[in-house]
Amino acid sequence: MKQATKRVVIIGLDGAGNMIDQANTPNIDKALKGGFITYEAQTVLPTISGECWGSMFHGVKPSLHGLTNERAEHRQYPIDSPYPSFMRLVKEADPSAVIASFSAWKPINDGIIEAGVADYVSNVHADKHLVHEVAAFSEQYPDFKLMFIQFDGIDGAGHSFGYGTTLFHEVIEETDELIGQILAILRAKNKLEDTLIIFLSDHGGGGADPKNHGSDHPKDVTIFWGCAGPNVVSNAEAEPVAIEDTAAVVAYALGIDSPVTWSAKVPSGLFKEESR
Ligand SMILES: [Zn+2]
Repeated sequence: MKQATKRVVIIGLDGAGNMIDQANTPNIDKALKGGFITYEAQTVLPTISGECWGSMFHGVKPSLHGLTNERAEHRQYPIDSPYPSFMRLVKEADPSAVIASFSAWKPINDGIIEAGVADYVSNVHADKHLVHEVAAFSEQYPDFKLMFIQFDGIDGAGHSFGYGTTLFHEVIEETDELIGQILAILRAKNKLEDTLIIFLSDHGGGGADPKNHGSDHPKDVTIFWGCAGPNVVSNAEAEPVAIEDTAAVVAYALGIDSPVTWSAKVPSGLFKEESR
């Protein structure tokens, strides 16, 4: 029997790379229990937030979406691009679908996502404020279809203290506590049932420079990527995951065909066959 996915929640940890396995993250672990996780997923080059989140949203490499930090800070992504974000795709497939985007790094909402595709957009200046924002949103829109939440503090810790340091791991653990609070809010409203939840990072750091990222060093390029929910094969031996595949996984889970222009694909082995 087909098990329908009613909504997708994506939680992004900026700058965490694949280093969450060196920290204590009980809330992420619990959310991914029975699902899939890899610490060998690959992001795009250059390993910079604008390019990497751009590929996650738009399903293509940076050479095609053209997003950079600077561009995302200064203008919104064109609504008529041949490389729509998965948010635009979901909105066009179902104009009544409620979509939310919460970010501690403004260029995601101001420049990477197209104007008007998210019904609820929230920029916060510190990760801890994301909890209240999600609580307020889920009161107002109990029947949302798609939610993206970006945490920025881990990357800030990498730039300040060095990626992979003790202080960096402490911020991963603080972020996990905030994630636990958000998941408790959603769980209390039964919004984690029939839900595909995806966790990932946009890039790592500490490769070419202990306090930076942007290089093609494996520490910068390798990220964790996990998901759990309806039809996800438990401990799947899926083919290697690329960050842009996130877009295809969101579309697939919600029963929408990916645009032919996307290079994003659903990693084979991740979902039970014929799950749609
Ligand atoms: Zn980043």
